[in-house]
Amino acid sequence: MIFGKHINRYYFKYAFWLLLGLASLIAVDYAQLMVPNLYQMVVNGMNEGIVEIDGVAHSFDMSFLLDKICLPMIVIIVLMVFGRFLWRICLFGSAIKVETDIRNSMFDHAKNLSRQYYQVHKVGDLMSLFTNDLETVQECFGSGVLMFFDALFLGGLSIIKMWQMNPVMTGFAMIPMVLLLAVSTLIGGYMMRKWEVRQQAFSRLSDFSQESFSGIAVIKAFVKEGKELWAFKALNKENEEANIAFTKASVLLRILVTLFVESVICVILGYGGYLVYTDVFNAGQLVEFIGYFTTIVWPIMAVSELIDLSSRGKASLKRISELLDAPVDVIDRDGVTDIGEVKGDIEFRNLSFRYPDGEFDALKNVSFKINAGENVGIVGKTGSGKTTLVDLILRTYNVPDGTLFIDGKDVNSVSIHSLREGCAYVPQDNFLFSDTITANIAFGVDGYDENTVSEAAVLADVDGNIREFSEGYSTVLGERGVTVSGGQKQRISIARALMRNSPILILDDSVSAVDTKTEKAILENLRNTRKGKTTLLIAHRISTIEKMDKILFVDDGTVAAVGTHAHLYETNSDYRKMVDLQKLEEEGAENNG
Ligand code: ADP
Repeated sequence: MIFGKHINRYYFKYAFWLLLGLASLIAVDYAQLMVPNLYQMVVNGMNEGIVEIDGVAHSFDMSFLLDKICLPMIVIIVLMVFGRFLWRICLFGSAIKVETDIRNSMFDHAKNLSRQYYQVHKVGDLMSLFTNDLETVQECFGSGVLMFFDALFLGGLSIIKMWQMNPVMTGFAMIPMVLLLAVSTLIGGYMMRKWEVRQQAFSRLSDFSQESFSGIAVIKAFVKEGKELWAFKALNKENEEANIAFTKASVLLRILVTLFVESVICVILGYGGYLVYTDVFNAGQLVEFIGYFTTIVWPIMAVSELIDLSSRGKASLKRISELLDAPVDVIDRDGVTDIGEVKGDIEFRNLSFRYPDGEFDALKNVSFKINAGENVGIVGKTGSGKTTLVDLILRTYNVPDGTLFIDGKDVNSVSIHSLREGCAYVPQDNFLFSDTITANIAFGVDGYDENTVSEAAVLADVDGNIREFSEGYSTVLGERGVTVSGGQKQRISIARALMRNSPILILDDSVSAVDTKTEKAILENLRNTRKGKTTLLIAHRISTIEKMDKILFVDDGTVAAVGTHAHLYETNSDYRKMVDLQKLEEEGAENNG
């Protein structure tokens, strides 16, 4: 059985099914223990011609066989078949329900974790928690309950029956069993540690595979298939060694069980034979005693299985608990209210920000104001802090009090979800789901019609491309479907953001993969359709943002200048240098072309 903070409540939640399962398990155990007594009657009947039941002698004939042996045996078999079916459904069914519940909690918690968490924990590792580890916990829950109670009842009842027949022989038989329990407990601890190592090795392996398949284009382009294979083999070897270490311990445990069980049989045969020889037992009683002992072989096996299973289950539950206990660090403060209808004013006041694992401030003392309805371009060198700036508006990370305001309200005083509801975002590494184009574009809205989807695609200048696909808007993208170009991907992501028609739209380097003509068309559409709404556009090409109402020039974590293009060109020498350099580069490219 397995216990822990994240599993105990399920014993209560599924108590009815567990109790029903246990009741049928006990009934089956009880029925099973009637069988050795029938053996005794048959053996004694054959030897002596009469059988004694509760002090009354019965002659061993056909009607006795039918009434006292066959009929009870049929009832026992029917009870056992029905009971086994019932407890399997109840116990294993509950375990599958527990697995589903935990998986839901894991997903629920995982989606609330901050982006920081996913920078530290890799996808392959998380996937193995959701599959491998969870299955182990499920197995441990269902089979654990079964084995624990079966060992307790069937084992306990058999020992009582054996004890009633002959306490001395039962005592002898129990010595190796007690030794077995002690050894198993020792090996169990060792196995738990080995299972943890094995799961970690498996996580590393799935992480590596996941990354290799995602980066297959790079691997092929650099002809590094061989290098990847060697790295994979090394990890696979590590996984194999961890597996072997666990299996060795598991096999050792099983061998010890067989050894101890066989040694008990020796004791019973030797001492039991002596009891028959000295007339303390008759042959039928010895067969009955052996019958009870054979019945407890399974509970003994179950104890060792249970130790094996619990060690794996505990290690896997520990890994799952680490996910479930991971703190949700970007979270609403107590008493926050929804921001309400967002207008689109954004203000940074002396904001400095350092990433949780960063070594320096990514933003330093940043102050600026964007008024609702403004079109704002953000430019600056790579790594200057542009993405950080927009991520903070989306509350991807925590910010100090009194530094960031939306519509004049401190972002820490409003609920995160209401703030994000007011924003639409096209991230730099835009991501499309393995789903139809329609589903991808409509991802951010709840109800939609086909027309609004295609309108958004028209505005993002991707409608024509989509219609060229044989399945049009129903084309499935991604792993199972069509691969789109970088530029198409960007434009589908823009359409997804435009579908929301949010008061604040953030585009992070979202037109970098489209040609200048398409870029112009998209920007023109944005200008026309987003009047009165705030748009922030991070770009590398000055030409992209030249005509915007306001430009933020970000330099080394500071907003070095704010104003129109003409104003910045006049007043900021670094900005001027950047613009001139870009112009020279463009002219050079044109001349070479
Ligand atoms: P830009 O968008 O201008 O290229 P970023 O805002 O992405 O720049 O990055 C600004 C600085 O913050 C860089 O030095 C970058 O290395 C650092 N940085 C970005 N993301 C993280 C992160 N998750 N953890 C730590 N440092 C980060």
